[in-house]
Amino acid sequence: MTNIPFIDIHTHHHRNASEEPCVSVINLFAEDDKMPASRKNTFYSMGLHPWHISSEKVKTGLANLEQSLKNKDIIAIGETGLDRAVDTPMDVQKTVFEKHLLIAQDIKKPIIVHCVRAYPDVVEIYKNLKVNLNMIFHGFGGNLQTAGSLIRHGFYLSFGGDLMKPKKNAAAIFKMLPKVNIFLETDESEYSIGEIYHQAALLMEINVDELKKIIHHNFLNCFGKLI
Ligand SMILES: [Zn+2]
Repeated sequence: MTNIPFIDIHTHHHRNASEEPCVSVINLFAEDDKMPASRKNTFYSMGLHPWHISSEKVKTGLANLEQSLKNKDIIAIGETGLDRAVDTPMDVQKTVFEKHLLIAQDIKKPIIVHCVRAYPDVVEIYKNLKVNLNMIFHGFGGNLQTAGSLIRHGFYLSFGGDLMKPKKNAAAIFKMLPKVNIFLETDESEYSIGEIYHQAALLMEINVDELKKIIHHNFLNCFGKLI
């Protein structure tokens, strides 16, 4: 196959910073954002981010999410998850996250997870709910042991700007992971998706075209044939 695009699995940039063809999954915050007009190669995820959960916003956010899910451009639930670095009480975060998992199960779509220092909790909730979902941990910042355990569950790990930073251990972990479990993202990074692919390919000691094939294959496995 020729002309395989870059795939940016999680971004907050509404415009493609890269000059090259790119399929993007742009994040929408359920508590604030409305569905943008349809654009070529542009998909969306929507969810309540643990940073923005407040009692008044949960209800309106979930209502907006349910309403927006009718739009076929939303291909994933999220980002949603658990974050031990914010003030929102963990029990509230867990309740909201459970709701997202059940919605994702209901509509049979993948879920994009934001997780900070709460990996065991995320896995426990997932198991307790007995859901069966394609789950993508975006901006993976855990250690190798955590990565191994998430991969054993069949989850995907996505990496972005941290691959460029020698002090972060993302690069060291990334190159040891099975190719079938990875995605790449720009998130809020200043790097373009092309730059992130370039760095990731260097770390894997393959060329960018091979990496494009790997990520494209993973996208099809996770999302079905959307592109
Ligand atoms: Zn994000």
